[in-house]
Amino acid sequence: MRAWFDNDNGGFERALNLLAEKVNTGDAPDPVCPSLAAVESMPRQARLSEEIYEVQRKKLMQETMTRQDRAWRLSCSQFGAGTWLLCIPMLDRFRCKSNVFKIMLQMWLGLLLPMAEGISSCVGCGALADRSRALLNGRHFTTTCKKGRRNIIHDVRRDVIYEMYKSLGIGAEKEVGGLYAVLKKNGEFRPADVLVPESASDGDKALALDVTFTDPTSKTSLEKGSDKVPLKAAAEAHRKKMEVHNRHVEMEAPVELPFEKVPLAFENTGAMGKETQQWWQSVLKWESEHRGVGETSSRMQLGLEHTWSANNFATFWLQSMSMAHFREQAETVLLWVNKCQPQQNVGGVGSHCCD
Ligand SMILES: [Zn+2]
Repeated sequence: MRAWFDNDNGGFERALNLLAEKVNTGDAPDPVCPSLAAVESMPRQARLSEEIYEVQRKKLMQETMTRQDRAWRLSCSQFGAGTWLLCIPMLDRFRCKSNVFKIMLQMWLGLLLPMAEGISSCVGCGALADRSRALLNGRHFTTTCKKGRRNIIHDVRRDVIYEMYKSLGIGAEKEVGGLYAVLKKNGEFRPADVLVPESASDGDKALALDVTFTDPTSKTSLEKGSDKVPLKAAAEAHRKKMEVHNRHVEMEAPVELPFEKVPLAFENTGAMGKETQQWWQSVLKWESEHRGVGETSSRMQLGLEHTWSANNFATFWLQSMSMAHFREQAETVLLWVNKCQPQQNVGGVGSHCCD
């Protein structure tokens, strides 16, 4: 920062001094206007605002609400949730249509969707609009519905992760089957959504990343206490993935598998499970260790796609993953809520045409 001041910015420094004369008066114990030294020693803005977020979080959680809404809000305050709200729509990857964005905001706030008001059941799976209100706030269509678009939502997040590894020059592969030797005849056994080669892992095995996402407001998640314990739903999704994998390991024994299973569990707020956060930290570590000595981390200076709020590796890819996931969820909800509208409203022609 000092370099910025020293390099022909005398004009700014003079202006700061002038301002200091005006504002450093009155009965404040310390100078109100920051000096250059004070600015340099200040904690980062994110650190300063932590306190405000914490107070607000406690306040929001104290309100009276259903267990579902409590689980949703708790999940919304975890790492990775709502990162899409920081996106600046300068790049296609951070853009969405306004009607989709509206649904995204309504879902994020846990509102009952006005456009879903008349729905009594899901035409896909027959689920009824019950006290969980999952149909009316759209969550039913993103996770629990058998006819929803779970696979598509899953795939967009997988694709961003794959693209991220590619951007690091890592030869990752998508949807790799045949990794379990005795099970290879069955195409369903694909332990890796993205297979990261051994050369890019900490250990001596390739990493079989397996993306999964889960709803903290579902009946099973609530039974596990997702409204009281943060990231409980993601922990459960991770545990289930490992349980299946461990059964496969037993079937393969004594042959040792050539990969390490790494489930990446996300809650449908975007929140990353604890183990997923560990994976993310390992990606960041790899990226910083392999960056050239003295090379800038600024995507702008590297001539890469960037925005003001997504100008380094972490912010750019966190926002990319978050936006792709939540936008796809909202598009799913939009599609299915329209499909589930009572018949007389289909096409907008009916008893309301003269209103
Ligand atoms: Zn359904």
